[in-house]
Amino acid sequence: MPAVIVDQIAGNECFVIGRIPHTIWDGATREETSVSSLLFMETMIANRLKRVRQALDAAAANALLETHPPNVFYLSGFTGDSGVLLIESSSVTLFTDSRFTIQAREEARGIRVQVHRGSLLAAIGDYLRRKRRIRAAIAPSRLSLAGWNVLKKAAGKGVRWVAIDGLVDQLRAVKDASEIGRIQEAARVGSEVMEETICLVRPGVTELELAAEIAYRMRRKGASGESFEAIVAAGPRSALPHACPTARRIGKNELVVLDLGAILRHYCSDLTRTVHTGRAPSRVRRWYQAVLEAQAAARDVLRAGVATGAVDAAARGVLQRKGLGRYFVHSTGHGIGLEIHEDPRLARGQERLLETGNVVTLEPGVYIEGVGGIRIEDDAVVTPRGAEILTTAPREFLEL
Ligand code: ZN
Ligand code: ZN
Repeated sequence: MPAVIVDQIAGNECFVIGRIPHTIWDGATREETSVSSLLFMETMIANRLKRVRQALDAAAANALLETHPPNVFYLSGFTGDSGVLLIESSSVTLFTDSRFTIQAREEARGIRVQVHRGSLLAAIGDYLRRKRRIRAAIAPSRLSLAGWNVLKKAAGKGVRWVAIDGLVDQLRAVKDASEIGRIQEAARVGSEVMEETICLVRPGVTELELAAEIAYRMRRKGASGESFEAIVAAGPRSALPHACPTARRIGKNELVVLDLGAILRHYCSDLTRTVHTGRAPSRVRRWYQAVLEAQAAARDVLRAGVATGAVDAAARGVLQRKGLGRYFVHSTGHGIGLEIHEDPRLARGQERLLETGNVVTLEPGVYIEGVGGIRIEDDAVVTPRGAEILTTAPREFLEL
């Protein structure tokens, strides 16, 4: 699904803003080895913790307080929805509540678990109060004002806080071979469900019925859920990039946009296809070809070392040359992984360079009010040689 870019600003004077070091992909092979998956997971997490500590060093911090559930999972394996992780130079502690005692011990192996009643932030603040010379990194964009007040009060004046957004998110943007394997599996399931759902598109079927089929078929294929609620939008509603499915019946001679994604073993996929009921007028075919060419242009420039903004410019340039630039109202793509929208963002003017191991969507589209919309979206791994496409559903224009 298309993402909206929001600039995040950390504006508290008492904070020190740190810098995040560059990360590199370890270049491991695609196959998980024959060692048990538990051991594999523990080794992987140990490597991630090492990189977090390097990033903390560079930011002049000696602890990280992590509250964002996908980051907690990434660094501990814990999947519960109540958990805060505290990473110090030589220890890691997971703070959770009594509903998760057994789960935390099972999932967060090798990590100390503290079970608390009441506010976890108050418990962590209290724990930090008893420590010396703590410079704790926190992400302002992940903390509510109420949470910050509780934490600050419990920790007292002895703790120095380092505001740093995106420290773990930056690490997560570069996927290792096992993560790419999982996204590929999610992309395969998403692609299969897409192909099956396209076979069900016909006049008289409602958007909601198709959305229900998508959710059901994903689960039947082993997905733990959808990456997001599927977008099924027909006719003039397809001009809304983030339309929610409705009880409206699909009509004859309409564009239908289907945008869906599966979650498999915690990792998301995201793909979009656009079809037409009946024979499409020539202008609609022209628009479709333009979007397809825009996507191919983005795919052709995607490789490690290229600026994310250059990928957006490649897609946008094609649509602009065809007079459709003003109808492309969102960015060209976004990272996918444990979350459906992650770094890096492929948006206008972005200077960040792509790295080997980034996994991104390529999803140009045109949206014409009162008529309809066309979007084509695939998932791609960034390699030194170019893009490796993970989604397999056919891209040619289907007139059903
Ligand atoms: Zn999508
Ligand atoms: Zn997307």
